[in-house]
Amino acid sequence: MPSPVLPTAFSNQMLQQLGETDYQAFLQALAAPTPVSIRRNSLKLKNWSENFDGVKWNNEGVYLPERPVFTLDPRLHGGAYYVQEASSMLLSAVLPQVIDLNQPLKVLDLAAAPGGKSTLLAAALSEDSLLISNEVIKSRYQILRENLCKWGYPNVLCSNQDSREFAPLQGQFDLVLLDAPCSGEGLFRKDPNAVNEWSPEHVQHCSARQRRILAETSPLLKPGGILIYCTCTYNEFENALNIAWSQNNLELTPIPLSFPAEWGVQARDFGYQCYPHQVRGEGFFIAAMRQEQHHPVLRSAPTKGFWRNAPRKNATFLHKWVKPGVELQLLESPHGELAAIPQVCFEFFQELSPYLRRWDPVLELGALKHTDFIPAPALALSTIVHPDLPNTPLDLLTALKYLRREPLELPTAPEGWGLVNFEGINLGWIKNIKGRINNYFPKEWRIRMGGSV
Ligand code: SAM
Repeated sequence: MPSPVLPTAFSNQMLQQLGETDYQAFLQALAAPTPVSIRRNSLKLKNWSENFDGVKWNNEGVYLPERPVFTLDPRLHGGAYYVQEASSMLLSAVLPQVIDLNQPLKVLDLAAAPGGKSTLLAAALSEDSLLISNEVIKSRYQILRENLCKWGYPNVLCSNQDSREFAPLQGQFDLVLLDAPCSGEGLFRKDPNAVNEWSPEHVQHCSARQRRILAETSPLLKPGGILIYCTCTYNEFENALNIAWSQNNLELTPIPLSFPAEWGVQARDFGYQCYPHQVRGEGFFIAAMRQEQHHPVLRSAPTKGFWRNAPRKNATFLHKWVKPGVELQLLESPHGELAAIPQVCFEFFQELSPYLRRWDPVLELGALKHTDFIPAPALALSTIVHPDLPNTPLDLLTALKYLRREPLELPTAPEGWGLVNFEGINLGWIKNIKGRINNYFPKEWRIRMGGSV
């Protein structure tokens, strides 16, 4: 694989940062193939037969020997794994160093789409924690929602706001992750387009935007709360200098972290860097800081949300659809769609959601239509769907037909509503009406690629 042609100013920066010998190794790594890695969803993928190399810093992360056509693997659509670059998974080794993950926590992932770090956070947090996963750009917000629905954790809300719109949630969060929009130097190998967008001016623009978001983010933390800041870039303006700036201007204290030397993660001024010649992954920077200031919780007027509590809704029929023992608080949209928040994190939900402007629960349940309940796709993919619902296994070709929303013939499917699965991973709903199978895979999620693996 040829090395990307690097801008001279970037080459000079890296030569200065790494020194001659390491710089040559860095260039060689950029010319080598990009490692392909995925992170498994341990609540869904119980039997993973292949014996792949593990990512050293994440128990569920594995490297694949080559890049498959992920779109044609039904397990991806069922949320059995997430395709994630390995260095980014270092977050899972940072979390237990800075916060007690067994506690119920209020967590915000401020820049979350497409959802790599939010799915990692959801898997790491206790089930009585609440994760707000935010993305400002509308089109990216839809992708984030889709990925979080597929991941299937119920204690997650998605929001679609700019960082400045979180001001009413001052002093509320135990943990905020800011995976900042950046110049993307660490992605030059994976995404050659990132090279074309790079310039010293763009780096300065990114750095200034990051400082604005950092200044808006830090008051959201409780006293002693943790801000994890990361980028996929190398330059000091977006990394170390922003952490130093946060220490001087926002009273955030950097927290020393430690990683086994064999992982190859480099301690830099005020943070930790992955380089592709030292780590089996792409370029990545991460730092954790503690909030030392007290930002009082504000009592501003709540916003009028789309979703409302539906405490008196008679939903006894739900026991057929939801795993026994799971207690839910119901929400309802103006159009009568039902969604839910697990009872175990409902208090957090009540404290936070009234001050969000645009948000949606990940756990949509469905809608009542006359006497029928039309289950939502998110319920099929949720970890709390009832395990005893009728569930028809599909072979690969039929699963791909299902995911393309094509008509199916399933002579063994029971009458009425049922799930379909591929290798035990739920994909969605069908309804069998007198032998005719209605395919309820959502239009917006259907795969358009032809062929099979
Ligand atoms: N955390 C994501 C993941 O692991 O999949 C990747 C996030 S990407 C590096 C940065 C995201 O920040 C982009 O989706 C971008 O749209 C979003 N963003 C840009 N400006 C923002 C702002 N002012 N507030 C919140 N998010 C913003």
